[in-house]
Amino acid sequence: MAANKSLLILPGDGIGPEVMTQIRHVIDWMDRRRSVTFAVQEALVGGACYDAHGTAITDQTMAVAETVDAVLLGAVGGPKWDDVPRQHRPEAGLLRLRKDLDLFANLRPAIVFDALVDASTLKPEVIRGLDLLIVRELTSGVYFGEPRGVDTLPDGTERAFDTQLYTKPEIERIARVAFELARKRHNRVASAEKSNVMESGAYWRRVVSHIAATDYPDVEYSNILADNCAMQLLRDPKQFDVIVTDNLFGDLLSDEAAMLTGSLGMLPSASLGAVDPTSGRRHALYEPVHGTAPDIAGQDKANPLATLLSFAMMLRYSFDMAEDADLVEQAVQDVLADGLRTGDIMSPGQTLVSTTQMGAALLAALDRRAA
Ligand code: NAD
Repeated sequence: MAANKSLLILPGDGIGPEVMTQIRHVIDWMDRRRSVTFAVQEALVGGACYDAHGTAITDQTMAVAETVDAVLLGAVGGPKWDDVPRQHRPEAGLLRLRKDLDLFANLRPAIVFDALVDASTLKPEVIRGLDLLIVRELTSGVYFGEPRGVDTLPDGTERAFDTQLYTKPEIERIARVAFELARKRHNRVASAEKSNVMESGAYWRRVVSHIAATDYPDVEYSNILADNCAMQLLRDPKQFDVIVTDNLFGDLLSDEAAMLTGSLGMLPSASLGAVDPTSGRRHALYEPVHGTAPDIAGQDKANPLATLLSFAMMLRYSFDMAEDADLVEQAVQDVLADGLRTGDIMSPGQTLVSTTQMGAALLAALDRRAA
């Protein structure tokens, strides 16, 4: 299968570049071994871009981001740029990417690798084999709804308010992402809202239920109240496959689900835009959940697996390369099963390795798997 997949790599700041070096090795490996050609471009983002160009992302890089099949980002920020004006702060680069590419669907998987089952605070039997995906609406809802503000009532009492607001198309498009993804996974979607106490929640439920019945009758569908969902995630998380929810509840539930796995250095994410009806393509940004880890940056200590798993998500969701995504994820399982650990996931009896050593072990595992 010869293909030309275009990819923009933005290593960013702190541990971003050292981690991304390991991902580049995996990309090179795939070029060599899997008859897939990645057309890779690389650019600065965040503080590194501010230092070079006085802005957190350049127009030229944005233009490239608009045209490639997918963007892979390390992380941005760090104390060095604490005093930079707000509009040029490192996060502004990330926010511009999300906004200009209209990345409305945030995908946050929570996967528990067998070898790391003890890293969670939950009992092994509750989380062993966990593999769920939270699909969070990212560009609307109460974080953006108008009106918002603080005002004063005629009697002098101050009050503050935000508006939870969703249009039908906004709900429909995030629901469709969830159903489509479920079809590539275990074919189950749970939609979480507060339809018992919120008008917007009742409306959300109505719209998603309608789409489920009319367009995705083959997908097993259920509604769940968001507070019950939070409890069920701790009680029996394996009951879920895909959870779709709004911006606010998604913010909370995705962090809760992430912590079921117990390790920041292992968590990937993706943010997807709408499918272009003519080209069939969609904008997509893949990035680890963790930040730039300034405390260990430049010391060859960072865990590259969250970014590698983000790359695997890219193979799966942007390039439809499920087999290759599986291969990368299996290589991750293998190195963990061999007892190799970076500092953040280290436990007694395992072998502490550097970022570089972890990268080399991954390539060896890929070689073994592909032999
Ligand atoms: P962080 O995720 O960078 O680090 C939190 C802790 O986890 C640190 O002790 C760090 O050493 C450790 N850690 C994180 N990732 C690791 C990895 N891959 N391997 C090993 N250890 C890892 O969060 P923070 O300290 O709150 O933020 C540091 C900087 O990163 C800040 O400037 C923040 O704004 C930025 N940040 C950026 C993003 C992003 O780019 N998406 C996300 C979060 C934080």
